[in-house]
Amino acid sequence: MSADSTVEDLAERVRAGELRLYELEEHADADTAAAARRRVVAAETGADLEAVGEHAFDAAEAESNVENLLGAAQIPFGVAGPAPVAGGAADGEYYLPLATTEGALVASVNRGLSTIAAAGGATARVTDSGMTRAPVFRVAGVADAERVTEWVADNRDRLAAAAESTTSHGELLEVDPYVVGDNVYLRFVYDTKDAMGMNMATIATREAAELIEAETPAELVALSGNLCTDKKPAAINAVEGRGRTVTADVLIDGDLLEEQLGARPAAMAEGNVRKNLVGSAKAGSLGFNAQAANVVAAAFLATGQDEAQVVEGANAITTMDVRDGDLYASLSLASLEVGTVGGGTGLPTQRAALEILELGGGGDPPGANADALAEVIAVGALAGELSLVGAFCSRHLASAHRVRSETRTHFMNPINSQYPYRRSTTCGT
Ligand code: NAP
Repeated sequence: MSADSTVEDLAERVRAGELRLYELEEHADADTAAAARRRVVAAETGADLEAVGEHAFDAAEAESNVENLLGAAQIPFGVAGPAPVAGGAADGEYYLPLATTEGALVASVNRGLSTIAAAGGATARVTDSGMTRAPVFRVAGVADAERVTEWVADNRDRLAAAAESTTSHGELLEVDPYVVGDNVYLRFVYDTKDAMGMNMATIATREAAELIEAETPAELVALSGNLCTDKKPAAINAVEGRGRTVTADVLIDGDLLEEQLGARPAAMAEGNVRKNLVGSAKAGSLGFNAQAANVVAAAFLATGQDEAQVVEGANAITTMDVRDGDLYASLSLASLEVGTVGGGTGLPTQRAALEILELGGGGDPPGANADALAEVIAVGALAGELSLVGAFCSRHLASAHRVRSETRTHFMNPINSQYPYRRSTTCGT
């Protein structure tokens, strides 16, 4: 049977109700199954799925990433930089790969990185690191809750041995107890090295939870009690951190700043306080920044991170101060969950993005690559802050979107091609 008639045969069996869409891989290789699925969905909906079927990975490669595969959703992928980063783990000039459909975003980050590069580069440090999982246990009342939390404190080594029996990389760092009535939440914190670590932490915590159930009156209700907190806006991540807690900063000469961004340090510092700090406080925001989520999301999509974790990746505070006529600017991301192994990082285009950064795979020592990735993303996000606050302060924002296409053409000249769109292109919120 030809490949096409196999696809048609499978599609027909689905239409006839003999097979379900999710059962196709049981009857054909993954690429054929996806082609049959496209044929069924296209016939039923009238959608043209030809472009969806064109992708760089073998369908079988994506089996641990998605179910009911149709193909790929392609996202334009650009690059900003390079800019020098002096990090605890990152060290050198980095291009930042960004996948987005938001025109002007890459240009905005590029403009900020150009300024950072002209200023001699940014400094960055991961100041804390730990992936969390917080199961919730049922107890009879507060007396039992105390018994459980005391047992946990007294048996730290046994819990670590149980948790670490499931992984050759993960290490249990802490178990933080929280009691609410007859609920006990135990927030397990792990060093997950170069993995973002959510699967690793979940598997390890399941083992530790079994030990707690065996030795105490606690009964496990859910392996995640939402105090972790994964993919939900939560102050605990902004305060305690989750994944990498990372800060980038830069000192920019006042005249250079004006030449690059068209704004003086005092105007930038004032604009940052009024918009990013006071405005965000009044709004009850967890993010005290201009557009950190833009850069985090685009970097996550390019490098194969879990895109839903942009929720906590945007817990970021931007500061800007005048120092002797120059501008000191920083961006601190409290909970940036990144990995260079596992999850989506092994898919071809995502792996290519990590290769641009020279950070694909496990680091030496383990954890160094994910630390460096966090530091480079933090510098990219700082660049986005400089560009956008600069645009507000030089009053370019209103015109930036309107003139975007003309500006692109104008500033994509060969002399300045490394940092195109220099003057007034920006984006943001
Ligand atoms: P993973 O793909 O499940 O596992 C990564 C594994 O890579 C580690 O467990 C480790 O194996 C191995 N590894 C090899 N070299 C390593 C190194 N240098 N550093 C660290 N690990 C290394 O990835 P994950 O990061 O644990 O979890 C990410 C995935 O979880 C994403 O796909 C995400 O979408 C998903 N996710 C899961 C949950 C959940 O609740 N389960 C929640 C949110 C997201 P060993 O452990 O054997 O050493």
